[in-house]
Amino acid sequence: MGFSTDAKFVFLLILILVWLFFAGAAAIKANQRGARPLLWLILGFLGGPFAWLGSFYTGSTCPHCRSKIHRRATTCPRCLKPQAADGTSPIYEISPEALIAQSDRQER
Ligand SMILES: [Zn+2]
Repeated sequence: MGFSTDAKFVFLLILILVWLFFAGAAAIKANQRGARPLLWLILGFLGGPFAWLGSFYTGSTCPHCRSKIHRRATTCPRCLKPQAADGTSPIYEISPEALIAQSDRQER
């Protein structure tokens, strides 16, 4: 009977560790997408893997390649296309790095 109790304790401990792992993963994912990481850490403590899955829906969608990106991204990290400032404005926010890269290309 002693072994059975230990096995249950180990199982519970692993379950808690996995749960906390998902909470951390949700917070990291939310941070990458421009959502509040602390809020998602709390949601992670409550929902575990479900909060982690939910964190995939944070951020905004790139209109060019349909990948999920940071809420305030000016360029898509996947297809490198400029993003509209709020999703409706046709004016693109171009990062200074992109402008420097463009002027370099024109000179050569
Ligand atoms: Zn894209």
